[in-house]
Amino acid sequence: MKLTILTDNHAAPGLACEHGFAVLIETGGKRILFDTGQLGAFDANCRALGIDLSDIDIIVLSHGHYDHTGNLADVLRIANRTTLYLHPSALVERYSIRNDKPKPIDMPEAAKRAIDELPKERIVWVTEPTRLTDGVFLTGPVPRQTTFEDAGGPFFFDPDGKTPDPIEDDLSLWIEQPEGLTVLAGCCHSGIVNTLDYIENITGQKRIATLIGGMHLSAASPERLDRTIESLATRNISRLIPCHCTGQIAAERFREELPYPVEAGYAGMVVESGKG
Ligand SMILES: [Zn+2]
Ligand SMILES: [Zn+2]
Repeated sequence: MKLTILTDNHAAPGLACEHGFAVLIETGGKRILFDTGQLGAFDANCRALGIDLSDIDIIVLSHGHYDHTGNLADVLRIANRTTLYLHPSALVERYSIRNDKPKPIDMPEAAKRAIDELPKERIVWVTEPTRLTDGVFLTGPVPRQTTFEDAGGPFFFDPDGKTPDPIEDDLSLWIEQPEGLTVLAGCCHSGIVNTLDYIENITGQKRIATLIGGMHLSAASPERLDRTIESLATRNISRLIPCHCTGQIAAERFREELPYPVEAGYAGMVVESGKG
């Protein structure tokens, strides 16, 4: 199993960074693209890393935000036999509202159009835990059980801020391997503790070889951060790789306080394990 970060808020020397996320997973002869970044860093990094997008088998959208769906239309044009996995709510109109200013944060129109034009048999609507291929699964919507986690920001369906957006479409991916699970989150608007609890419930597996992805904790309350660290510290995790929207403060506290290796992710980072 090989996982390559193609777009992230940080990048290896020579690669581009942007506020966005995209990861290529290669396992069991399948190539899975998890999110598509926001702007040009994705394309630049794919070229620099020699990634051929034409033979992507599966595209997963972790959720519908613009920083994960920015290059979807282009990728669908190139990867013309791929199947797209997403939750129906990934397509909704949505905003973040700061200082009374609504900012649209839904996916670009080109991406919505590309999905609309895709033959129905090439779309899988993910509304429950779903198998992608051998040993690779999606959570679908994650039950929000903890009291201390929220969607992570001022998110609404309308520009007036009347209807909160719980970002129901948020999903994470896990890969089952002998050494434990690799868990990959996009923004983790469901909360990382909710997500890990849910995956543990489904799989019965407590060992996590690698936990990687955006954990959206930059706006987290001190209480949320404390309780998240408390929960992460008690888990059987071998390696944590905070990416994208995890936030500097959370990532630093993870590094200082968690009893296992923590290394911040960046575009160009490769995580390999097992065979296949
Ligand atoms: Zn994000
Ligand atoms: Zn997001």
